[in-house]
Amino acid sequence: MDDADRAGIEQERLEKAFLAKRTMPPSRPSATECIECKIAIPEKRRQFVPGVQLCVECKTLSE
Ligand SMILES: [Zn+2]
Repeated sequence: MDDADRAGIEQERLEKAFLAKRTMPPSRPSATECIECKIAIPEKRRQFVPGVQLCVECKTLSE
């Protein structure tokens, strides 16, 4: 095995770790209501945005 092979394996390992991280479940559950304005966050949005904490309005304002 030469250095190129080792580099390829390392690259593959990093990519797998990166993908695993991306597909990991969110560390916190989606909030049922916005943490800013306290309005209810629609179920659809909570499923679409895992770990969502803000309603669409507050999210838009925070960006
Ligand atoms: Zn809000």
